[in-house]
Amino acid sequence: MIAHPVPPFARYERDRLQALRQLNLLDTPPSESFDRITRMAARLFDLPIAAVSLTDEDRQWFKSRVGVEHWEIPRERACCGEVADTTQLLVVDDLLESDIYRDSVLAESGIRFYAGAPLLTREGYCLGAMCVLGTEPRKASAEELAALQDLAAMVMAQIELQHAFGRIEPTTGLPNRSQFVEDLDDLARDAPDTQRFAVFVELLDAQQISTVQRVVGQAALDSLSREAARFLSGLLSAGARVYQLGPCQYLYLCALADETSVVNHALRLRQELLLLAQQHSTSINIRPALGVAPFRPGSVDATDLLRTAQSACLDARATESGVGLFSVTVDAGHQRRFTLISDLRGALTSDHQLRLAFQPRVDAGSGKCLGAEALLRWTHPVLGEISPAEFIPLIEETPLARPLTAWVMRAAIERSAAWNAQGRNLRVSVNISAANLDEEDFAANVLAMMAEFDLPSSALEIELTESALIGNSRSASDQLNTLLAQGITVAIDDFGTGYSSLAYLQEIPAHVVKIDRSFVSRLDTHTRSQTLVRNMIAMAHEMGYSVVAEGVETTESRDFLSDLGCEELQGYLIARPMSADSMEQWLDKQEQP
Ligand code: C2E
Ligand code: CA
Ligand code: CA
Repeated sequence: MIAHPVPPFARYERDRLQALRQLNLLDTPPSESFDRITRMAARLFDLPIAAVSLTDEDRQWFKSRVGVEHWEIPRERACCGEVADTTQLLVVDDLLESDIYRDSVLAESGIRFYAGAPLLTREGYCLGAMCVLGTEPRKASAEELAALQDLAAMVMAQIELQHAFGRIEPTTGLPNRSQFVEDLDDLARDAPDTQRFAVFVELLDAQQISTVQRVVGQAALDSLSREAARFLSGLLSAGARVYQLGPCQYLYLCALADETSVVNHALRLRQELLLLAQQHSTSINIRPALGVAPFRPGSVDATDLLRTAQSACLDARATESGVGLFSVTVDAGHQRRFTLISDLRGALTSDHQLRLAFQPRVDAGSGKCLGAEALLRWTHPVLGEISPAEFIPLIEETPLARPLTAWVMRAAIERSAAWNAQGRNLRVSVNISAANLDEEDFAANVLAMMAEFDLPSSALEIELTESALIGNSRSASDQLNTLLAQGITVAIDDFGTGYSSLAYLQEIPAHVVKIDRSFVSRLDTHTRSQTLVRNMIAMAHEMGYSVVAEGVETTESRDFLSDLGCEELQGYLIARPMSADSMEQWLDKQEQP
């Protein structure tokens, strides 16, 4: 298909209409600030009719009028339409003498005289006219016309003022997010499909901002904001617009050739910003970070672009350089984490997304099953099976840790009680997070649930990692002690991976250590692991712990472990985690001779 070039006038008219519509003036209620100017025009010419007339696609719409009843007239053969087309001052002494206007709607309604001055934007688009009309033929003097043009300029100043309102950040005078959204639209029109970059600049992180607000005060933050705004605008090339997005948060667009140049430029800018820290009068410790997001005008919306640039900036906080480049893969990771966290809440109330799998734990000597570890499984409605190794660490940081553990605990206790009723003597172990121990009613809730199901304390074990136990608060050990006092076993999970100081370990109220599977899985090939595991078992025994090895996959490691006196084994060699039903069948099979 051949693309026809847009004829110049049609292009002008298209852009002119867009400029007009962006101002959001059409069909808005009258306003005194315009009416005052219109009245002045009528008085100046001593004429009954005056108007601020905006030229829409096919009508003249009056933002302000004196002496006219209606709000709009057709654009076709309206004098103001000619002003908009030619962008020139127009005077018609007598409409009836004019070939063009003799049969116009205006002439038919009795108008004879017209003078209109163009309403010109800075970019040169004519929005319409400031016009005066009379019912008698008339001439206009040069002074009158000069005054009419001044009034037109006043109308434009008023329009710009109104437009800027809400688009400027009062503390710094910089354009804000709304202005950015509009400018991005313009860029999509003027430079579609070119390579551009958005650079997000942040002087302080969110934590610092709230500290400064609290400790030093809002005024200090505002003053830093202003200083940084001046500094940034000065550093960037003339014409580059700096937007302010939040306290000490800025954004600008740049058109450098490639990512490397932009990142280098951002690195230099960051160095300069560090200098600002030295000059700034108050003692706020500036920690600038920048995020760069590549984009193509026209193929991204403003909200997305801001999000990606800001997320690159957040990533940069974690790095030495303080400059981050937005990457689709990193973003996909963020998105997925965000999705998982927000969807888990729904999973907790849906009755088919979460379930428990059980993995047997057997006596190392006799092979008899002593219990099972409850392991959480999540089938996400869209993403499918999600490993607990992926979502548990995310959830642990959120308030969802509490209801999630409560869900697991209830499901595990229910199952344990059912097995107990079937005459199976099993201990079900439940993994809990460090955050759970900070819940003041954690132990009480567990005990209440056990009472509800009439479950003996020997039927439950709690698994906690070393790092969850170390450095934990008083209330955490209170929770543990309450559970221990009721006869519930506590196991130290992933033993050997934390920074277990022996002295500290002595203080942990636990009975069992579970040697981490990373040591167990290397037993066959790694003599160092053999030494380590041998020492761990000996030490644990000396301190009165019973030892479970997890991740047992081979007969060799099983034999090695039972020779060393390890009490219990868990791993794929014995059984994989399975559903409760499968676990029952598995148990029944074990009992057959
Ligand atoms: P974990 O507590 O160390 O659980 C043992 C993990 O090792 C399980 O992975 C299990 O399937 C796997 N495993 C067992 N035997 C073998 C083996 O022989 N070889 C290998 N390679 N792996 C084996 P899973 O189920 O993916 O769980 C991963 C982690 O997620 C768990 O590690 C635990 O930290 C966490 N988790 C699982 N369920 C829960 C839960 O209900 N609450 C909390 N807080 N964490 C949970
Ligand atoms: Ca565990
Ligand atoms: Ca473990």
